[in-house]
Amino acid sequence: MRLSRYYAPTLKEDPADAEVVSHKLLMRAGMIRKLTSGIYNYLPLGLRSINKVARIIREEMDRAGAMEVLLPMVQPADLWRETGRWDYYGKELLRLNDRNGRDYCLGPTHEEVITDLVRGEIKSYKQLPINLYQIQTKFRDEIRPRFGLMRGREFIMKDAYSFDKDEAGAEASYWAMFEAYKAAFARIGLRFKPVQADSGAIGGDFSHEFMVLADTGEDTIASCKSCEFGANLEKARVVLPEGTPNASGTPCPEIEARATPGAKTIEEVCTFLSVEPQKLIKSLLLTIDGEETVLALVRGDRELNDIKLRNLVGGNEIEMADEATVQEKTGAPVGFAGPVGLPEGLRIFADQELCTGTDWVVGANKADTHLLHVSLERDCTIEQFADLRVIEETDPCPECGGEVEFTKGIEVGHVFKLGLKYSEKMEATFLDENGKSKHMIMGCYGIGVSRIVASAIEQNHDENGCCFPPSIAPFEVALISLGGKDQDVADKAEELYTEIMKMGIDACYDDRKERPGVKFADADLVGYPMQLVLGGKGLKNGIIEAKDRKTGEKSELPLEGFAEAFV
Ligand code: ATP
Ligand code: MG
Ligand code: MG
Ligand code: MG
Repeated sequence: MRLSRYYAPTLKEDPADAEVVSHKLLMRAGMIRKLTSGIYNYLPLGLRSINKVARIIREEMDRAGAMEVLLPMVQPADLWRETGRWDYYGKELLRLNDRNGRDYCLGPTHEEVITDLVRGEIKSYKQLPINLYQIQTKFRDEIRPRFGLMRGREFIMKDAYSFDKDEAGAEASYWAMFEAYKAAFARIGLRFKPVQADSGAIGGDFSHEFMVLADTGEDTIASCKSCEFGANLEKARVVLPEGTPNASGTPCPEIEARATPGAKTIEEVCTFLSVEPQKLIKSLLLTIDGEETVLALVRGDRELNDIKLRNLVGGNEIEMADEATVQEKTGAPVGFAGPVGLPEGLRIFADQELCTGTDWVVGANKADTHLLHVSLERDCTIEQFADLRVIEETDPCPECGGEVEFTKGIEVGHVFKLGLKYSEKMEATFLDENGKSKHMIMGCYGIGVSRIVASAIEQNHDENGCCFPPSIAPFEVALISLGGKDQDVADKAEELYTEIMKMGIDACYDDRKERPGVKFADADLVGYPMQLVLGGKGLKNGIIEAKDRKTGEKSELPLEGFAEAFV
């Protein structure tokens, strides 16, 4: 591919709305362009990477015995009503009407459609198991689309669905996908970790997520330093009941938040606050403008009795205080050296507005034994917030009892054992060996194809641009001609390009009439794993220079016998 005719408009400056490096570089390298919030055009270079990711995934799915299908993106509401998800799914589901006023949605996932497809056709245990997958565009009206391809509203996903006749088969299908995921992510060249996970809106029996380890990840992973254990800290959940009035007295819709056990005990917080444990009834942590803050709701007592009153959790005995007041009254030092996920400075606020736009909070769990790490999926006020109650939680303590460390991760894949959740609601049945009607046992398995490209950049970049793993680089090699006005160099580069094409090398050819500096900068920016540079001096000496993008190492290859020398 000749870059003189290629559509890869590069940018010198980072786009103003790009916060993470992958978003900046995908834009600057001319791989994507934004159409509107969370919706992107994939340009030729970007699409090449995406297609390479998709190809590896396809190969691993096929190897594991899954069969590719392509399901519609527009889905009738009636199917979603059968499973109850038309109501449950909330605002992430983009709903639309046809000319007759019928309800539809854009598929955020395809459990309903695939179950409908299979229930009509599979009659006997002899037809099971099956596993069907697709690589397709999904739409989720994310509350906060951001980070470019990382959290889009429209994005590309591989989703697979398995149907089995019994538990043993369903488990085998699950673990076959688990292994296929490991193989695919390893081939793509990601540093990743499978972790135990919550099943979220998909539901089901149990699940694992595949996390790419990167500081910009939105998930927090607890990993054991001594064993394989890993868990996503969003696993536990808290729910704010529907109808709770907000600050202005309006009943709110149900707010679902995800909570995880933090590492600080109530006792520790109490020690810090110099209050007795039974006096501290709730303690919350939130992030405001990127700063983590603990909000403590303290029961009125002798030490705190004249602190500004604010009734937050029903009953006047619950009070709040501003930081200065609490510090004055308790003499507690501001400086709460918490472990990962907890703040360095404990601060207490009395302002009702603080919870609006919150990302993270920590609250006491039912037993008041430790703090919970919570991320809200919707903004809420302190009043709503104070009413969050834990509906489910898990403790990340590995069985081996080893030390847990917390890191950030990007969820690139998710495998779920669904069990009967969809087959029961949608009556997906078959006749077993004894002629008895049974529900199929399902699993579903997603991979964020477009998110992987962004994740790979998060893990592989430097100050000059992307350093793509060869398996998913837009091109593996960039042949750069420094011909300029030197016709001999230009001719030789053309000749070499023809040879490289014949050799079947995945290469692009920078034949543009640009200065060498521009060509080098662009090649570094896009991150082709290898650059082959032909200049006047090299031609004279009969060599071409090869540069490894990631290490910067340079070597020389002979022009005569290039094909034999190139490995
Ligand atoms: P997240 O926790 O990041 O919102 P999810 O758990 O909602 O993801 P799943 O329903 O498990 O996502 O979907 C399967 C995969 O699709 C995810 O593992 C992720 O890689 C990808 N994915 C999900 N949402 C997005 C998005 N908004 N943009 C890009 N990829 C996404
Ligand atoms: Mg999501
Ligand atoms: Mg998730
Ligand atoms: Mg998930």
